[in-house]
Amino acid sequence: MVVIAVDGPSGSGKSSVSKAVARRLGLAFLDTGAMYRAATLWCTRRGVDLADADAVSRAVRVMPLVMGLDPQAPTVHLDGQDVSAAIRTTEVSTQVSKVATNLDVRAELRRLQREVIETETTDAGWSGGAGVVAEGRDITTVVAPDADVRVLLTASEEARLRRRSLEVHGAADAAAVAATRDQVVRRDRDDATVSQFEVAADGVVTVDSSDLDFDQTVDAVLGVVAQVTGTVAR
Ligand code: C5P
Repeated sequence: MVVIAVDGPSGSGKSSVSKAVARRLGLAFLDTGAMYRAATLWCTRRGVDLADADAVSRAVRVMPLVMGLDPQAPTVHLDGQDVSAAIRTTEVSTQVSKVATNLDVRAELRRLQREVIETETTDAGWSGGAGVVAEGRDITTVVAPDADVRVLLTASEEARLRRRSLEVHGAADAAAVAATRDQVVRRDRDDATVSQFEVAADGVVTVDSSDLDFDQTVDAVLGVVAQVTGTVAR
């Protein structure tokens, strides 16, 4: 059984890299950012004013959220409806920090995240007790500080902007990069007011992917896992 925690700024590749690492090791995959996105969608669909902290936290406490943990096809369901695509819209991306900086919401989602991680260490989990790769901004420091492996995935701002721009706009020319800047730089600045994900805490291994391609980054993380736990990918 192994619990792997990965955090880092927007565009560092933490989500796709963590998913690939989970696939290679036969582990469950938990995208905690998707939970904050789902909370944002849930509140906006119910007409909750995102500036009303109490109303938002009340809504999130009763949110019927189910996270699908299969790294081949992770899903997010709200009230039985698949919202995996709906939580990725630009509207949700630009609003999510408002919900994610609500401290009551963070307490509730961290509780749910710890519950998922704990379940994955038992037979009852999706992974049958093999373990989980959990990724998100405060995973290595607050949610799972006792994870077996903790990785901070970083990349230069330039590399992160280029990647996110390619992902969202299919291009990385000056106009596309400028259009992406809000999502990457402004969102990280807002998020950094409540979680620390730009400097590695004690015991957290930094993997800088600025000059690595995707496969090299996955291999670098697998290398850290092998070194720390002796667990080797298939
Ligand atoms: O990783 P992703 O871009 O999907 O995350 C969406 C948002 O969720 C982040 O901008 C941040 O506001 C919030 N988040 C967080 N803590 C986490 C994961 C995500 O605050 N562990």
